[in-house]
Amino acid sequence: MKALAELAKRRGFFFQTGSAYGGVSGFYTYGPHGATLKATVESAWRERWATREGHDEIDAPTIMPEAVFEASGHLDGFDDLLVECPACEQSHRADHLVEGQTDIAEAESYTAKEIEGLLAEHGITCPSCGAPLAEEPVEQFNLMFETAIGPGSTNRGYLRPETAQGIFVDFPRLREYARGELPFGVAQIGRAYRNEISPRNAIVRTREFNQAELELFFDPDEDEPDLESVADVEAPLFSAEAQTADGEPSFQTIGAAVESGPIADDWVGYYVGVATAWYDRIGIDLDRVRFRQHQAAERAHYARDCWDAEADVSGPGQDPEWIELAGIANRGTYDLSHHEAHTDERYRVFSEYDEPRTVERASVEPDMAALGPEYGSQAADIAAALEDLAETDQRAFEGETVAVEVDGETVEIPTEQTGFAVEEVTERGEQITPHVIEPSMGIDRTVYTILVHAYDEDEIDGEERTVLRLPPEMAPTLVGVFPLMDKDGLGEQARNLAADLRAVGLSVTYDDSGAIGRRYRRQDEIGTPYCITVDYESLDDGTVTVRDRDTTDQVRVGIDELAATLAALQDGELAFDQL
Ligand code: ATP
Repeated sequence: MKALAELAKRRGFFFQTGSAYGGVSGFYTYGPHGATLKATVESAWRERWATREGHDEIDAPTIMPEAVFEASGHLDGFDDLLVECPACEQSHRADHLVEGQTDIAEAESYTAKEIEGLLAEHGITCPSCGAPLAEEPVEQFNLMFETAIGPGSTNRGYLRPETAQGIFVDFPRLREYARGELPFGVAQIGRAYRNEISPRNAIVRTREFNQAELELFFDPDEDEPDLESVADVEAPLFSAEAQTADGEPSFQTIGAAVESGPIADDWVGYYVGVATAWYDRIGIDLDRVRFRQHQAAERAHYARDCWDAEADVSGPGQDPEWIELAGIANRGTYDLSHHEAHTDERYRVFSEYDEPRTVERASVEPDMAALGPEYGSQAADIAAALEDLAETDQRAFEGETVAVEVDGETVEIPTEQTGFAVEEVTERGEQITPHVIEPSMGIDRTVYTILVHAYDEDEIDGEERTVLRLPPEMAPTLVGVFPLMDKDGLGEQARNLAADLRAVGLSVTYDDSGAIGRRYRRQDEIGTPYCITVDYESLDDGTVTVRDRDTTDQVRVGIDELAATLAALQDGELAFDQL
């Protein structure tokens, strides 16, 4: 981690923001190479999770009013457990301290009181100064950043702690674009904000970060994922059962894992398959990844099955260090039904039956000419209560009078004034609340893992080098173009070549400073897969050397074929050893 952080800062992948002002922990800036890598991860995500799946993408605001987060449950429940050190006053995430200083995993699912007990029982100490934390209170700390919307306003808002709510709140409109037909998916890539208690590990836990989320809306009785397309994908699965039995993750095909366990949900299984293949493609080492199933206690009550993608980002010879890259959860109807309950909108879709059905429908037509004079302003509420009652309990209308409750008072209405009737109607379908599957990915942790898994040190001609073995598709720079020396027209030819390659959309860096070996090293450590050298032979026969980063092998390629060759290498249509 230290070596990578040093490389990231020196070569412009990422660094702490505003160190001239002392820096505030939890805020990072992506430098030129990092910003490009992040953008490439986002494009690869968009291509795989939105375009290829046929889903639409939206871009919602990052600030939303309090009411949204009241409905989503974030206002009341988006808390982490905070403990403050009495000696150095540092704040810590109490569950992380327990995980770090005991054998307990996933302490997040414990209550504040339970964690207080564990701090005492295990003699947990402050990681900053070593003071004991045994008697310290553990509190719930809400992670949302609060703001005021408008000048002098009492209209409270929050920075979104996840991109998902932007999709859920506007479901009624998004449903229209999907022509009300399930299943449909809506994707979003964007910033999320969490006032983390103790940000750490560079871009792994920050206070402003980037998520890529897909919300897939479906009818559980009708819609099935295309499991066949991922059935043969071998995913490293760490089931809840294996965790309890102190077992290990094991590679299983998605087909078998969905058919006979441990994956309990077809849609979740489908996305675990898509994620596995996608991680492999973008350069994450599947031998250092596991999909960990949530234990029942850890799962939110509405989440029916949930798997986290986790990556080991430890260095060579160190104990594994797992970080969460993504969560893939079946959220049921939780989000849509909460927004429906907090608004006047319907968060449902019309689901057509295979065959129309004839059903009995009860209705009321209260006699307002009688109710109005007797109950005055309460009459409308009584009529609404009668309507609700007819829908839920026809038997209530069997007697001489019907009892309804209005403003905490029971009112008896003569049944003949209710206009109660039951008729047979033919229905084509019904309004249903779609279920949701959510693959929620952290872009920054994905970038970090790609870098950790690509990082390598080896020796070339007796000289040590640092090399990032990034897949060509992901490398911030595809090709370095060098003149052997900047004289005799070599520099000019190399500059022209760089301009020509840029003109066809390839990412190229030009470098003529220092010995050629040093120029190669500079590119190796930022993961540039190919380097081209223009030499004296180039002037004679129109060829240049192309050097492969990983093997350091070199071949001569005609300048005319370069653009097409490099594009094919980048797309994976051609391998270097085929040149
Ligand atoms: P953690 O347990 O690590 O705090 P989480 O379970 O709260 O993460 P989710 O709410 O599932 O995270 O968010 C989805 C993804 O967003 C995570 O898998 C992670 O990749 C990313 N993420 C969450 N919090 C942060 C953060 N503070 N910094 C960077 N990425 C984050």
